[in-house]
Amino acid sequence: MKDTLTGLDQYEVFLQKLEKELEQIGEDRITIVYTDIKHFKYINDTYGYKVGDALLKDFVAGFMERKEFIICAARVYSDNFVVAGRLSADGPTNEEFRELIHRVNQERETQFREKYLNSRLQFCTGISVTDKNSRSLDAETAVSNANLARKVAKDMENDSCVLFDQSMMEGIRREVEITSSIPKALAQKEFKVYFQPKIDTDTLELIGAEALVRWQKPDGSFVYPDEFIPLIERSGQVVDVDYYVYREVFSFLANRLKEGKKVVPVSLNVSRVHLQKMHILEFVKGLLEEFQIPCSLVEFELTESIYLDNTEQALELIKGLHKLGIKVSMDDFGSGYSSLNLLSKLPIDIIKLDRVFLKEGEMQESDRIIISCVVDMAKKLKITSLCEGVETQEQSNYLKEVGCQMQQGFYFSRPIPREVFENLIEK
Ligand code: C2E
Ligand code: CA
Ligand code: CA
Repeated sequence: MKDTLTGLDQYEVFLQKLEKELEQIGEDRITIVYTDIKHFKYINDTYGYKVGDALLKDFVAGFMERKEFIICAARVYSDNFVVAGRLSADGPTNEEFRELIHRVNQERETQFREKYLNSRLQFCTGISVTDKNSRSLDAETAVSNANLARKVAKDMENDSCVLFDQSMMEGIRREVEITSSIPKALAQKEFKVYFQPKIDTDTLELIGAEALVRWQKPDGSFVYPDEFIPLIERSGQVVDVDYYVYREVFSFLANRLKEGKKVVPVSLNVSRVHLQKMHILEFVKGLLEEFQIPCSLVEFELTESIYLDNTEQALELIKGLHKLGIKVSMDDFGSGYSSLNLLSKLPIDIIKLDRVFLKEGEMQESDRIIISCVVDMAKKLKITSLCEGVETQEQSNYLKEVGCQMQQGFYFSRPIPREVFENLIEK
């Protein structure tokens, strides 16, 4: 039974063949190379399915050239491929094998990018190696280990080829532990909103804040967003956590207004997951109606990479928020493949320069130049600029020199609990 498009074995057949090979492993090692083509959807969407299909066939033809090593290969689904191979005991080490596949991937990426005119196409590969001493010798485990390594590769920016190791199972255990305790954590209000002040560069006054979530376990310990957000983005639960944070912030602002106390605008982080569903606009509209706060008191932060991966949806979201009278900022500008082009294409109101520009120690001349250029350009585009991660007076002074309007960072204040923040506003 063959896959009609690629002529490869069907996945079920592949597993049966692999099972037999594993039974006769002897002194050899069996490798599983699991590859997926990042941004393949872009090819289908941009050039049509015909070109997409041709690319897949092309990809298969490439690795099937290495007949002497391959035992069997299959397309698991869509653009996901597995290739099983045999390495003799005196063949390349596991790491040498990984490097080899990495090099092949890079060469092919270059060829494909030229051929299919897509500069972002990338192969993500996970490799598992089974030998007679491995914990398990079954085909499904071998493939799922390689698939797990592939997922790790997909999350990495530069390395697109990763070798499975047992510690990745520990990562999975942690992931299950976290995702399974989210519903209870939400119900028991274990998430706390912290506020990090934003400072006006000229007056050094507090003029706003960013809401940052903290997870405080019943034993008092904290789990930080960098640890759990990426995991709950994968499970989709981040939507519930974000909504929880939004509601807390709206209610906080509404209460202060009701009591006649001073308020400042608070910005809220938007996970990329919201763009898949777009319920967020309805939700925010509902909150505005429920709490009756002026729309100028909240802002939404969309991280730079969201714009690159989903330009259209991002644009739709920005327009929707603008319709509600809400400002939008581009978060983490400069942390990834920032495109200056995006700044002119997207109607954002604020640009948040990532703290990568402010490295430890004295400021580098090159970073100074970049900051001042970005601030200048933003100004010409009528976009407000804010620099994050300000830790020293030197950095703060420099930002003033180049006319960056707002600042945020440990130099002024760490993210603080609500009560502490309230005291600060009153000052
Ligand atoms: P972010 O949006 O870039 O938030 C700024 C992060 O930088 C915060 O980390 C903050 O504590 C840290 N930071 C601020 N000033 C400084 C400084 O001067 N030096 C250094 N080294 N760090 C500074 P935090 O609170 O751990 O949050 C990490 C990330 O988690 C955030 O990055 C954001 O992407 C995400 N996150 C936080 N809260 C939420 C949330 O409610 N929803 C969503 N979707 N994501 C959130
Ligand atoms: Ca942010
Ligand atoms: Ca940021």
